[in-house]
Amino acid sequence: MERVLVIGASGQIGTDLVLALRAKFGNDMVFASDIKDASREVMDGGPYLRLNAMDKEGIRKVVEQNHITQIYLLAALLSATGEQNPQLAWDLNMTSLSHVLDLSREGLFKKLFFPSSIAAFGPNTPKVMTPQYTIMEPSTVYGITKLAGERWVDYYAKRYNADIRSIRYPGLISWKAAPGGGTTDYAVQIFHDALKSGHHTCFLKEDATLPMMYMPDAIKATINLMDADRDALTVHSSYNIAGVSFSPAEIYEAIKKHVPKFTISYEPDFRQGIAESWPQSIDDSQANKDWGWKPDFGLDNMVEDMLTHLEKHFSVYK
Ligand code: NAD
Repeated sequence: MERVLVIGASGQIGTDLVLALRAKFGNDMVFASDIKDASREVMDGGPYLRLNAMDKEGIRKVVEQNHITQIYLLAALLSATGEQNPQLAWDLNMTSLSHVLDLSREGLFKKLFFPSSIAAFGPNTPKVMTPQYTIMEPSTVYGITKLAGERWVDYYAKRYNADIRSIRYPGLISWKAAPGGGTTDYAVQIFHDALKSGHHTCFLKEDATLPMMYMPDAIKATINLMDADRDALTVHSSYNIAGVSFSPAEIYEAIKKHVPKFTISYEPDFRQGIAESWPQSIDDSQANKDWGWKPDFGLDNMVEDMLTHLEKHFSVYK
């Protein structure tokens, strides 16, 4: 019987992941935690607690009291907010990971999920079909924390036989929660603007192609990797996974098919520089080989699904 703790559950991924984990393991088995309130659905649908990812003894207490077997560490400062406060990004992203790694080494729980990112790559990485193993050299503090995190995770797996699983998520697109300050946030805002104001001002250039993924695919990947047979896993740092790659101009055109009057303009800011340091597409063949990874969503079915859900969401909360 699995009992799960999600740390940083009130953010973009946690809002969807907690509900998926509760559907899988049972509502009472999944403890959502954060330093801020979560969505009503998350807070009312099962256990929710205030827990600071920097408080190692607080995490230990929650794990022991609730007989937790799996932890998903989602608390982090993301790429754009990390550049505004590099020291805080380093402190939060590394200290929280080091706490849960130490608790896993003590054998306090069985399995850890650590989310890495395409931000772990950098300007010297091959940009097209970026391989699983390649030059990394991230240029943002966020990317540096993700690469350092991957190295720690690999070290703990090999040295202490800890069961830690990790994915390099691309930019994630979802409708339930707002994104938390990343370079790909425009790809969520553009849907809100299409339905609300009819105009989107993009903070990236029109041809800034990046690897992206629709949230249902990201949740499927996370759960499938955590379920996979441990002996089948050959990557102990973090798996490349791919969804769909597109530029702002391409997603705009895909949305315009459904919202013909929608307009866009471009005012690139510091996030354009971050985008230019990242890959454009990802080779995820190792994830496919080891645990059968395959996305369900491409650009057109993702756009259709996002617009349908957001329209319903807006009509309920009007
Ligand atoms: P988010 O910013 O939306 O959510 C992070 C959550 O962590 C927030 O609810 C925040 O309140 C919480 N948090 C911050 N400090 C905390 C602390 N000290 N203790 C407890 N909670 C704290 O981020 P997200 O998009 O849900 O991302 C989750 C993870 O996935 C992060 O590690 C992120 O780097 C990674 N990731 C996300 C994306 C994406 O596109 N969303 C892409 C790649 C990787």
